[in-house]
Amino acid sequence: MTGESNCKCLTDGPQRDWSTEDLGETKSYGEVCLRTCSICGSRWLSYFYEHEAFTASDRSYIGYLGSLSAPNPDDAIALMRMLEPRFIWDKKKVRWVKNSGAVIDGL
Ligand SMILES: [Zn+2]
Repeated sequence: MTGESNCKCLTDGPQRDWSTEDLGETKSYGEVCLRTCSICGSRWLSYFYEHEAFTASDRSYIGYLGSLSAPNPDDAIALMRMLEPRFIWDKKKVRWVKNSGAVIDGL
């Protein structure tokens, strides 16, 4: 057994222990990051969007990249739509939930 098999990334969404590398912004000013789990080393594409004029418009997606290379910010949403598993942050439940619906860029 390794630490890798104890990590719940792929079933419960990434845990808090990870490093973040900023990849830049999409055209609609969403933040794109590459995140690496410090427990199991899995790589994730992260997308965060918030419209300052609308409260509670913020949303976060995270998708398992595996060994795929990190995309340019402009390609991030198209790639995110293909990633499995993919999670969206649920603010009410305060945890990641599986996202099988659309990935929305901007409002
Ligand atoms: Zn992990």
